Amino acid sequence: MATAEIEAPVDALEAFRAHAREWLGAHFPPSLKGKDNAMSAVEGPHENTPEEAAWQQAMGEKGWGVPTWPKEYGGGGLSRDEARVLQEEMARIGAWNPIGGMGVMMFGPTLLEYGSEEQKREHIPAIAKGIVRWCQGYSEPGAGSDLASLQAFAEDRGDHYVVNGQKTWTSGGQWADKCFMLVRTDKTRKHEGITFLLCDMDTPGVEVKPIRLISGSSPFCETFFTDVKVPKANRVGEEGQGWTIGKRLLQHERSSLSGGGSTAGRMFSGAPLGQLAKKYVGVDEQGRIADADLRSRIVRHEMDLRAFMLTLRRASAEAKSNQGPSAATSIMKNVGARIMQERSELLIEIRGLAGLGWEGEGFEEEALKDVRTWLFGKAVSIYGGSTEIQNNVIAKRILGMLDHQ
Ligand SMILES: Cc1cc2nc3c(=O)[nH]c(=O)nc-3n(C[C@H](O)[C@H](O)[C@H](O)COP(=O)(O)OP(=O)(O)OC[C@H]3O[C@@H](n4cnc5c(N)ncnc54)[C@H](O)[C@@H]3O)c2cc1C
Repeated sequence: MATAEIEAPVDALEAFRAHAREWLGAHFPPSLKGKDNAMSAVEGPHENTPEEAAWQQAMGEKGWGVPTWPKEYGGGGLSRDEARVLQEEMARIGAWNPIGGMGVMMFGPTLLEYGSEEQKREHIPAIAKGIVRWCQGYSEPGAGSDLASLQAFAEDRGDHYVVNGQKTWTSGGQWADKCFMLVRTDKTRKHEGITFLLCDMDTPGVEVKPIRLISGSSPFCETFFTDVKVPKANRVGEEGQGWTIGKRLLQHERSSLSGGGSTAGRMFSGAPLGQLAKKYVGVDEQGRIADADLRSRIVRHEMDLRAFMLTLRRASAEAKSNQGPSAATSIMKNVGARIMQERSELLIEIRGLAGLGWEGEGFEEEALKDVRTWLFGKAVSIYGGSTEIQNNVIAKRILGMLDHQ
């Protein structure tokens, strides 16, 4: 009896593995193997090739881009174990998830928790199919780390709000269809005066100005709101509950940024550092990486990375069986950011002169990608809440230290 109870789920999981394997074999075009671009989410939308479009549509319809989200809203409805098996089967054939972005990383999970039934039915299926792009309207020129100082104001006009103010660092704002934002609905109370609103980016009065970077690309924007009408139906939760909902979203963001499966997670992928080092730095008479100091730093890094990935898996399993991500995501974000930046530094060091190109012939595609990832990686310890702010969260919420300690 006991044996049967244990065996049944394993059998079911193996049956699911067979199904996933067959389905992926039928739908993932082998020509797309390894063609996932870790930076695409921040470099802007690119025109999908017919194969990419078909892959995205297939995954969207199956709900496997968001495998554990409820089926009734277009998710995969898979258990955690099934989702892990799916990931393993995808990795086995070099398949990647074509559905991502802020809708998947942070807004969707938050709406599933706090949204009304109508809001979930309206927004979640489109996120699950990857057909609506969301941006985040949190930061303002005077409200970064001290986010609760935000000033964008939503005035109550009965059945709608009228929003005025400015947001900044709106990643992908110029390509987004919709924005989830924090606004002030009460000027007399700081945290309790904040409300969570959803705004269509094509509403009259929304103006997006891309910020041009030294690289020439402009993935970040200043977003201006002038007398923008937002229906009350677009308010998530109650008026004044925005801080609670907004913080929850940040936990999802940090959990995702620490390597939980999105952009950051993919930054850890690529050729093993040891292999690359042997190619670029050469080997000694025993076949080891020639530079002993580099060799030991690579080994230390790979061990840190493995320990981190295992801890991440454990933390995410814990989060799913408890109340979702906790303040511990701040630890994961800080460690993840450090490891990611360290990995990028090592990659550039290993490539030597070949790792100094920004664009142009004479540089391998992979090397150019590594340089971009290295430069972008500088921002990892800033966005989603800087390292110092995570340290504050860890001190207060995890270690229970008071502000003055
Ligand atoms: C690449 C990138 C993409 C981003 N995308 C978005 C987006 O899509 N939407 C959005 O809303 N925002 C976005 N941001 C903004 C991001 O959330 C903020 O940059 C971040 O919260 C830090 O705020 P700040 O830049 O105003 O720095 P500040 O808050 O001015 O901080 C400056 C420095 O002071 C430190 N500091 C500040 N307060 C404290 C304190 N109390 N204790 C200790 N140290 C402190 C900080 O850690 C930091 O080192 C993005 C930022 C980057 C870099």
